[in-house]
Amino acid sequence: MPRSRPKVYVIIPAAGSGTRLPGAVRKQFALLAGKPLIVHTVQCFEQCPDVDEIILVVPEDTIADTEALVSRHRLHKVGRVVAGGAKRQDSVYNALKRLQLQPSDIVLVHDGVRPFVEMKKIRQVIHACREADAAVLAIQPKDTVRHSAGGDYFDKTLDRSALWLIQTPQGFRGALLQRALEQARKDRFAATDDAALVERLGVRIKIVSGSYDNIKITTPEDLELGGLILARQRQRGLEGGENPTSRD
Ligand code: C5P
Repeated sequence: MPRSRPKVYVIIPAAGSGTRLPGAVRKQFALLAGKPLIVHTVQCFEQCPDVDEIILVVPEDTIADTEALVSRHRLHKVGRVVAGGAKRQDSVYNALKRLQLQPSDIVLVHDGVRPFVEMKKIRQVIHACREADAAVLAIQPKDTVRHSAGGDYFDKTLDRSALWLIQTPQGFRGALLQRALEQARKDRFAATDDAALVERLGVRIKIVSGSYDNIKITTPEDLELGGLILARQRQRGLEGGENPTSRD
Protein backbone atom coordinates (compact mmCIF):
# COMPACT_ATOMS: atom_id res chain seq x y z
CA MET A 1 0.00 0.00 0.00
CA PRO A 2 1.45 3.45 -0.86
CA ARG A 3 2.58 5.55 2.11
CA SER A 4 0.85 8.87 2.78
CA ARG A 5 4.07 10.94 2.69
CA PRO A 6 7.09 10.30 0.46
CA LYS A 7 10.10 9.34 2.56
CA VAL A 8 13.42 11.16 2.58
CA TYR A 9 16.42 8.83 2.73
CA VAL A 10 20.03 9.97 3.07
CA ILE A 11 22.83 7.79 1.72
CA ILE A 12 26.23 8.70 3.19
CA PRO A 13 29.08 7.11 1.22
CA ALA A 14 32.08 6.84 3.55
CA ALA A 15 33.81 3.81 2.12
CA GLY A 16 36.82 5.50 0.55
CA SER A 17 40.38 4.50 1.37
CA GLY A 18 41.20 8.08 2.45
CA THR A 19 44.81 7.88 1.27
CA ARG A 20 45.24 11.67 0.93
CA LEU A 21 44.92 12.04 4.70
CA PRO A 22 47.74 9.95 6.15
CA GLY A 23 47.36 8.46 9.62
CA ALA A 24 46.50 5.32 11.54
CA VAL A 25 42.78 5.62 10.82
CA ARG A 26 40.97 6.24 7.54
CA LYS A 27 39.92 9.87 7.17
CA GLN A 28 36.21 9.28 7.68
CA PHE A 29 37.10 8.03 11.18
CA ALA A 30 39.70 10.75 11.95
CA LEU A 31 38.88 12.68 15.11
CA LEU A 32 37.69 16.28 15.02
CA ALA A 33 37.19 17.78 18.49
CA GLY A 34 37.30 14.23 19.89
CA LYS A 35 34.59 12.82 17.61
CA PRO A 36 34.99 10.85 14.35
CA LEU A 37 34.29 12.91 11.22
CA ILE A 38 31.61 10.47 10.14
CA VAL A 39 29.71 11.06 13.39
CA HIS A 40 29.79 14.84 12.86
CA THR A 41 28.43 14.27 9.34
CA VAL A 42 25.61 11.94 10.39
CA GLN A 43 24.55 14.33 13.17
CA CYS A 44 23.84 17.06 10.59
CA PHE A 45 21.11 14.84 9.09
CA GLU A 46 20.05 13.16 12.34
CA GLN A 47 18.82 16.55 13.59
CA CYS A 48 16.95 17.47 10.41
CA PRO A 49 13.21 16.79 10.89
CA ASP A 50 12.66 16.16 7.16
CA VAL A 51 15.00 13.15 7.13
CA ASP A 52 13.45 9.73 7.75
CA GLU A 53 16.36 7.30 7.44
CA ILE A 54 20.12 7.39 6.99
CA ILE A 55 22.10 4.64 5.28
CA LEU A 56 25.80 4.65 6.04
CA VAL A 57 28.23 3.05 3.59
CA VAL A 58 31.66 2.11 4.99
CA PRO A 59 34.54 -0.24 4.17
CA GLU A 60 33.47 -3.84 4.85
CA ASP A 61 36.07 -4.37 7.60
CA THR A 62 34.73 -1.37 9.57
CA ILE A 63 31.03 -2.31 9.65
CA ALA A 64 31.12 -3.63 13.23
CA ASP A 65 33.08 -0.61 14.53
CA THR A 66 30.71 1.75 12.70
CA GLU A 67 27.67 0.04 14.20
CA ALA A 68 29.28 0.51 17.63
CA LEU A 69 29.76 4.25 16.87
CA VAL A 70 26.14 4.53 15.75
CA SER A 71 24.85 3.15 19.04
CA ARG A 72 27.39 5.02 21.21
CA HIS A 73 26.42 8.36 19.66
CA ARG A 74 22.69 7.47 19.58
CA LEU A 75 22.34 8.02 15.86
CA HIS A 76 18.79 6.73 15.80
CA LYS A 77 18.05 7.50 12.15
CA VAL A 78 20.85 5.24 10.88
CA GLY A 79 18.77 2.29 9.73
CA ARG A 80 21.52 0.38 7.97
CA VAL A 81 25.31 0.22 7.74
CA VAL A 82 26.34 -1.37 4.45
CA ALA A 83 29.62 -2.28 2.76
CA GLY A 84 31.00 0.05 0.08
CA GLY A 85 32.16 -0.77 -3.44
CA ALA A 86 35.24 -0.10 -5.54
CA LYS A 87 34.14 3.39 -6.64
CA ARG A 88 32.01 6.01 -4.91
CA GLN A 89 29.09 5.34 -7.24
CA ASP A 90 29.29 1.60 -6.44
CA SER A 91 29.03 2.49 -2.76
CA VAL A 92 25.92 4.60 -3.43
CA TYR A 93 24.45 1.77 -5.53
CA ASN A 94 25.04 -0.78 -2.74
CA ALA A 95 22.99 1.38 -0.38
CA LEU A 96 20.27 2.25 -2.88
CA LYS A 97 19.51 -1.35 -3.78
CA ARG A 98 18.66 -2.09 -0.13
CA LEU A 99 15.84 0.47 -0.13
CA GLN A 100 12.22 -0.31 -0.92
CA LEU A 101 11.58 2.92 -2.77
CA GLN A 102 8.19 4.34 -3.65
CA PRO A 103 8.08 6.48 -6.83
CA SER A 104 8.10 9.86 -5.08
CA ASP A 105 10.56 9.08 -2.30
CA ILE A 106 13.59 11.36 -2.22
CA VAL A 107 17.15 10.17 -1.82
CA LEU A 108 19.90 12.55 -0.76
CA VAL A 109 23.52 11.54 -1.23
CA HIS A 110 26.11 13.23 0.99
CA ASP A 111 29.87 12.67 1.29
CA GLY A 112 30.82 11.10 4.62
CA VAL A 113 33.72 13.53 4.90
CA ARG A 114 31.65 16.73 4.58
CA PRO A 115 30.76 17.35 8.23
CA PHE A 116 29.73 21.03 8.21
CA VAL A 117 26.57 21.14 6.11
CA GLU A 118 23.91 23.31 7.74
CA MET A 119 20.35 22.10 8.23
CA LYS A 120 19.02 25.10 6.32
CA LYS A 121 20.92 23.90 3.23
CA ILE A 122 19.76 20.28 3.63
CA ARG A 123 16.16 21.49 3.75
CA GLN A 124 16.66 23.70 0.70
CA VAL A 125 17.95 20.71 -1.30
CA ILE A 126 14.96 18.59 -0.25
CA HIS A 127 12.58 21.39 -1.17
CA ALA A 128 14.23 21.95 -4.59
CA CYS A 129 14.18 18.21 -5.24
CA ARG A 130 10.44 18.06 -4.57
CA GLU A 131 10.03 20.77 -7.22
CA ALA A 132 12.59 19.69 -9.82
CA ASP A 133 13.32 15.95 -9.13
CA ALA A 134 17.09 16.63 -8.96
CA ALA A 135 18.96 19.36 -7.05
CA VAL A 136 22.50 19.88 -5.80
CA LEU A 137 24.34 22.33 -3.59
CA ALA A 138 26.96 24.36 -5.44
CA ILE A 139 29.10 27.47 -4.94
CA GLN A 140 30.77 29.79 -7.40
CA PRO A 141 34.58 30.00 -7.57
CA LYS A 142 36.10 33.08 -5.93
CA ASP A 143 39.34 32.79 -7.92
CA THR A 144 39.89 33.22 -11.64
CA VAL A 145 39.80 29.82 -13.34
CA ARG A 146 42.12 29.00 -16.24
CA HIS A 147 42.29 25.88 -18.37
CA SER A 148 45.41 23.96 -19.33
CA ALA A 149 45.31 20.87 -21.50
CA GLY A 150 48.75 19.96 -20.10
CA GLY A 151 52.32 21.27 -20.06
CA ASP A 152 53.54 24.53 -18.48
CA TYR A 153 51.10 26.98 -20.08
CA PHE A 154 47.41 27.82 -19.90
CA ASP A 155 45.40 27.75 -23.07
CA LYS A 156 42.37 29.75 -21.97
CA THR A 157 40.61 31.59 -19.17
CA LEU A 158 37.14 30.36 -18.28
CA ASP A 159 34.17 32.61 -17.57
CA ARG A 160 34.03 32.39 -13.79
CA SER A 161 30.46 33.66 -13.60
CA ALA A 162 29.24 30.55 -15.45
CA LEU A 163 31.12 28.04 -13.29
CA TRP A 164 29.96 26.19 -10.20
CA LEU A 165 31.83 24.02 -7.71
CA ILE A 166 29.68 21.07 -6.78
CA GLN A 167 29.04 20.01 -3.20
CA THR A 168 26.75 17.57 -1.47
CA PRO A 169 24.03 16.83 -0.47
CA GLN A 170 22.63 16.07 -3.88
CA GLY A 171 18.96 15.16 -3.92
CA PHE A 172 17.02 13.06 -6.43
CA ARG A 173 13.72 11.30 -6.78
CA GLY A 174 14.72 7.77 -5.78
CA ALA A 175 13.54 6.11 -8.99
CA LEU A 176 15.56 8.59 -11.06
CA LEU A 177 18.78 7.96 -9.13
CA GLN A 178 18.21 4.22 -9.42
CA ARG A 179 17.81 4.48 -13.19
CA ALA A 180 20.92 6.69 -13.48
CA LEU A 181 23.12 4.33 -11.47
CA GLU A 182 21.88 1.26 -13.34
CA GLN A 183 22.45 2.91 -16.73
CA ALA A 184 25.98 3.98 -15.70
CA ARG A 185 26.80 0.43 -14.61
CA LYS A 186 25.49 -0.94 -17.90
CA ASP A 187 27.56 1.59 -19.89
CA ARG A 188 30.62 1.30 -17.58
CA PHE A 189 30.43 5.06 -17.15
CA ALA A 190 32.13 6.50 -14.06
CA ALA A 191 31.70 9.98 -12.60
CA THR A 192 32.79 11.76 -9.44
CA ASP A 193 29.25 12.65 -8.36
CA ASP A 194 25.72 11.37 -8.76
CA ALA A 195 24.37 14.43 -10.55
CA ALA A 196 26.62 13.64 -13.52
CA LEU A 197 24.94 10.23 -13.83
CA VAL A 198 21.45 11.74 -13.69
CA GLU A 199 22.40 14.47 -16.18
CA ARG A 200 23.32 11.73 -18.69
CA LEU A 201 19.65 10.74 -18.75
CA GLY A 202 18.78 14.23 -20.03
CA VAL A 203 17.44 15.47 -16.68
CA ARG A 204 18.27 19.05 -15.68
CA ILE A 205 19.75 19.53 -12.22
CA LYS A 206 18.55 22.46 -10.12
CA ILE A 207 21.20 24.64 -8.44
CA VAL A 208 20.87 25.29 -4.72
CA SER A 209 23.30 27.88 -3.44
CA GLY A 210 25.78 26.15 -1.08
CA SER A 211 28.14 27.42 1.59
CA TYR A 212 31.92 27.93 1.57
CA ASP A 213 32.03 26.19 4.98
CA ASN A 214 30.66 22.95 3.54
CA ILE A 215 34.13 21.64 2.76
CA LYS A 216 35.15 18.07 1.98
CA ILE A 217 37.92 16.93 4.32
CA THR A 218 40.56 15.58 1.96
CA THR A 219 44.03 16.61 3.19
CA PRO A 220 45.58 17.33 6.63
CA GLU A 221 45.11 21.10 6.01
CA ASP A 222 41.37 20.53 5.56
CA LEU A 223 41.22 18.89 9.00
CA GLU A 224 42.92 21.96 10.54
CA LEU A 225 40.54 24.29 8.72
CA GLY A 226 37.68 22.04 9.84
CA GLY A 227 38.59 22.71 13.47
CA LEU A 228 38.09 26.45 12.85
CA ILE A 229 34.78 25.96 11.04
CA LEU A 230 33.51 23.75 13.86
CA ALA A 231 34.55 26.29 16.50
CA ARG A 232 32.69 29.03 14.62
CA GLN A 233 29.59 26.84 14.17
CA ARG A 234 29.61 26.06 17.91
CA GLN A 235 29.81 29.77 18.68
CA ARG A 236 26.80 30.40 16.46
CA GLY A 237 24.94 27.37 17.84
CA LEU A 238 25.00 25.63 14.46
CA GLU A 239 26.91 22.44 15.21
CA GLY A 240 25.32 19.34 13.65
CA GLY A 241 22.93 21.41 11.59
CA GLU A 242 20.87 24.40 12.57
CA ASN A 243 17.81 25.35 14.54
CA PRO A 244 15.01 24.06 12.26
CA THR A 245 12.82 27.03 13.10
CA SER A 246 15.39 29.65 12.06
CA ARG A 247 14.54 31.79 9.06
CA ASP A 248 16.42 31.38 5.81
O1 C5P B 1 36.93 10.16 -3.31
P1 C5P B 1 36.02 11.29 -2.96
O2 C5P B 1 36.74 12.36 -2.20
O3 C5P B 1 35.16 11.80 -4.05
O4 C5P B 1 35.03 10.65 -1.87
C1 C5P B 1 33.83 11.26 -1.47
C2 C5P B 1 33.10 10.35 -0.48
O5 C5P B 1 32.84 9.10 -1.11
C3 C5P B 1 33.94 10.05 0.76
O6 C5P B 1 33.12 10.17 1.90
C4 C5P B 1 34.43 8.64 0.53
O7 C5P B 1 34.62 7.90 1.74
C5 C5P B 1 33.27 8.03 -0.28
N1 C5P B 1 33.68 6.88 -1.11
C6 C5P B 1 32.94 5.69 -0.99
N2 C5P B 1 33.34 4.58 -1.71
C7 C5P B 1 34.40 4.63 -2.53
C8 C5P B 1 35.14 5.84 -2.68
C9 C5P B 1 34.74 6.96 -1.95
O8 C5P B 1 31.96 5.63 -0.23
N3 C5P B 1 34.75 3.52 -3.18
